[in-house]
Amino acid sequence: TVRVRLAPSPTGNLHIGTARTAVFNWLFARHLGGKFILRVEDTDTSRSRPEYTENILEGLRWLGLDWDEGPFFQSKRLDLYKQGVQTLLDRGLAYRCYTTTEELEALREAQKARNEAPRYDNRHRNLTPKQEAAFQAEGRSFVIRFKIDDAREIVWNDLVRGKMVWRGSDLGGDMVIARATEDGIGQPLYNFAVVIDDMDMQITHVIRGEDHIANTAKQILLYEAFEAKTPEFAHTPLILNMEGRKLSKRDGVTSICDFQEMGFTAEALVNYMTLLGWSPPDSTQEIFTLEGAAKEFSFERVNKAGAKFDWAKLDWINSQYIHKMPVDKLTDLLIPVLEKAGCKLNDGRERQWLEELVTLAQPSLTRLQDIVNLTKTFFTTEVEYGEEAIAQLKKEGVIGSLEAIIAALDDKNPLDATTAGDIIKQVVKGQKLKKGLVMRSLRAALTGELNGPDLMQSWLLLNKINLDKSRLNQALA
Ligand code: GLU
Repeated sequence: TVRVRLAPSPTGNLHIGTARTAVFNWLFARHLGGKFILRVEDTDTSRSRPEYTENILEGLRWLGLDWDEGPFFQSKRLDLYKQGVQTLLDRGLAYRCYTTTEELEALREAQKARNEAPRYDNRHRNLTPKQEAAFQAEGRSFVIRFKIDDAREIVWNDLVRGKMVWRGSDLGGDMVIARATEDGIGQPLYNFAVVIDDMDMQITHVIRGEDHIANTAKQILLYEAFEAKTPEFAHTPLILNMEGRKLSKRDGVTSICDFQEMGFTAEALVNYMTLLGWSPPDSTQEIFTLEGAAKEFSFERVNKAGAKFDWAKLDWINSQYIHKMPVDKLTDLLIPVLEKAGCKLNDGRERQWLEELVTLAQPSLTRLQDIVNLTKTFFTTEVEYGEEAIAQLKKEGVIGSLEAIIAALDDKNPLDATTAGDIIKQVVKGQKLKKGLVMRSLRAALTGELNGPDLMQSWLLLNKINLDKSRLNQALA
């Protein structure tokens, strides 16, 4: 059976690139009824932090990307890597290298002066026991290097990119697979630990970003060294910004929690991420669930070219999800947003009232955050009148019409839609004013603005929390 994995390093919050890789792994596994495994690559103790692990797991759960096995932690599997290092040492495929940082630096400088790419010159590949002892006596530390044959051709058939050909000489000389530790076997490095784990976890397909292509060439040599079957590889395209450069911190958001905070829903974000590099057989279809996409997913429809991040499209998809969401679910999502913006929800505002407000705003929402601007006037006692509203209230006939509305309201509380409509008709007729003028003035008086959600509905909602009359009075004052 198919076994895939996501192997995030907890050196930051769940990144959009990692999340997209997770989506493709998930889709592939679900498409083929395989297993999706989660492995946290936390061997780099200086950069890994438990709160990042927490953020990554939480983000994946939020997105609905459930895993079948794990999370496994590399930091708890160090013995396995040590065994692996020992195996390669025993087989003569790896060796201790005592080259100092200064020596490596000098080597690099010399290569630079000759306009050569930096690479290790394998100088300690064949040390005699005597030479080793001498370095140890000097108190030098060491790393474990794995021998790479410069003349080797490394070929694989990438599921996204087709035939890939690398040369041993492209890989920078014998590669470091572990650093010295007290017991001498060492702390494993990424390229090594990953292969040990992928072998141990019987991973059949390695699906990851194309920034790992050079690592794949190295890792294939390690599989061979262990006489293990090499998995299939699929390198997914990078995510680019609209200018075609790699999406980065400068683009404002990089981690999933940033998108969450900006008011994107999990369903919309995951839907959008499936389209970052993949397209369904019916390429006009843009809205689908994870399960729906899994039915059709294949690497044949994954692009080689970078995937441009398109905010307008993400916004559009988000609005589609929001507009179709059941109002109780949407209300649940919006309550924390409103509370965070300082809106007092418990001030006589019932759940039912909130749901009516949400229904009123729903068609105008693109991001969840839009609720704040759209409805903030419903959460204050007094109105803040904007310039346009003030100008509107100064127009001829406005005072008279507002006074007439107040008078009509007196014996008609609570208000219903028909009564509210009748009041307007009656005022228009009685004051001999245009309906548009009365409506605009009413909106200005009630909300302090000239635009907003449906006026009659807004009025009814304000009436339910006893704010309409006081606001009409405030407008007159
Ligand atoms: N820890 C690596 C990363 O986060 C994993 C790469 C891989 O999938 O092998 O980039």
